[in-house]
Amino acid sequence: MPIATVNPANGETLKTYDALTDEEIKHRLLLAAGTFRTYRTTTFFERARLLQTAADLLDADRDDIARVMTTEMGKPVVAARAEAAKCAKAMRWYAEHAQELLADEHPSARDVEDSGAVSAHVRYRPLGIVLAVMPWNFPLWQVVRFAAPALMAGNVGLLKHASNVPQTALYLQDLFRRAGFPDGCFQTLLIGSRAVEGVLRDERVVAATLTGSEPAGRSVASIAGDEVKKTVLELGGSDPFVVLPSADVAKAAKVAVTARAQNNGQSCIAAKRFIVHTDVYDEFAELFVSGMRALRVGDPMDESTDVGPLASEQGRADLEELVDDAVECGATVLCGGQRPEAYAKSGWYYEPTVITDITQDMRIHREETFGPVATLYRVGDLDEAVALANDSPFGLSSNVWTHDAAEIDRFARDIEAGGVYVNGMTASHPAFPFGGIKRSGYGRELSAHGIREFCNITTVWVG
Ligand code: NDP
Repeated sequence: MPIATVNPANGETLKTYDALTDEEIKHRLLLAAGTFRTYRTTTFFERARLLQTAADLLDADRDDIARVMTTEMGKPVVAARAEAAKCAKAMRWYAEHAQELLADEHPSARDVEDSGAVSAHVRYRPLGIVLAVMPWNFPLWQVVRFAAPALMAGNVGLLKHASNVPQTALYLQDLFRRAGFPDGCFQTLLIGSRAVEGVLRDERVVAATLTGSEPAGRSVASIAGDEVKKTVLELGGSDPFVVLPSADVAKAAKVAVTARAQNNGQSCIAAKRFIVHTDVYDEFAELFVSGMRALRVGDPMDESTDVGPLASEQGRADLEELVDDAVECGATVLCGGQRPEAYAKSGWYYEPTVITDITQDMRIHREETFGPVATLYRVGDLDEAVALANDSPFGLSSNVWTHDAAEIDRFARDIEAGGVYVNGMTASHPAFPFGGIKRSGYGRELSAHGIREFCNITTVWVG
């Protein structure tokens, strides 16, 4: 894949970049290792000051970087601005909380005495150089949610961003440099995915985090496993959105549209499978389909656009294949199911789509739809809803709409996912852990759990 900015709204190649040479990669690794030796000893106060400055700079750059993101991957510019604002917020959250999240832990006096120590504590120390392999769908956020905790913990980062968002990748490196982080704290490596192995096998790189597809995750994790290096994986999702009879159906349908169509449908935590109790199915289906139909598809630079193009031609082809396969196997298209007529010739657009009469033999039943395509199922009760929701290789997040406390409790007990969002849609927040189980990956980002993933959790025992 060439490293280039190609505008998904018209297919025009705007800028191409040469990949780094082996020599240049070596130089960056050397710089990262040298920087880590001193950066690891800086105080939380110093790191927090730098991260606050980065947040302020990002706020000031918001409109400009939003336009860059939209140009590179097609998200509506309004959403791109919101993403930049969210990143600044997460930076401030970690600047404010990292010290308390990584404070020394003191076992009880009884346990200390029992171990034969005079004193003992647990210390969270940084690990070293962490490689981040990141996707294009939230080109700022996916990186910041790694970088903010990693830098606050005293680690240094190397970013291998997706090849279609090089300007955003370079912006991030520049942002941290302008904020005053020492050179080498955060570097962007403009490299293709084949060059990842060499970087990951370098002995100075101690861990990796990857957000993206299952094949990419499997490859990086197996190399890291071979090198006995820690990984965190945040892969795909096919989140269920379950609506039960006591739900506020109108609100559920409205939120369902946003949950499915956000980011042009290209979000790992987008609700993708809509599983609705038969008592409220017709009402929900009507409102949901009319909501999806009403979405404004168009130029992502237009302030009033709800859904822009998909990020790549390949992404649209993959999505079309899933829909076409379902239709061939007997699924019913309730709306969409094709390229919008107005954009038939230019741009990688796809109409917001709802399909039903899904059967288990259809690919769409088990694979992730990375675009504005929803599958709609009818079920008879909660048990059937949970069984269907769990009938997926993925386990990222989940949504349930009900006002019945016992149903909420059962859903939260039985659903196979890393998140349960009740009467609302899944959205990440710096204070809450984020991540999945099954083929959605392992490890957690954000919150105390996220910042501790790349720490050397050290027992200090004094006899
Ligand atoms: P990829 O997983 O291919 O890309 C994500 C990142 O991984 C990019 O930086 C990519 O680099 C890199 N990468 C890809 N393959 C390897 C590899 N073998 N070794 C090391 N790094 C690798 O995602 P795509 O863009 O191809 O999207 C395909 C599908 O992935 C989507 O349809 C969706 O299902 C899923 N996806 C999930 C995301 C999520 O948020 N969980 C985000 C994006 C995609 P390069 O760009 O150079 O190939």
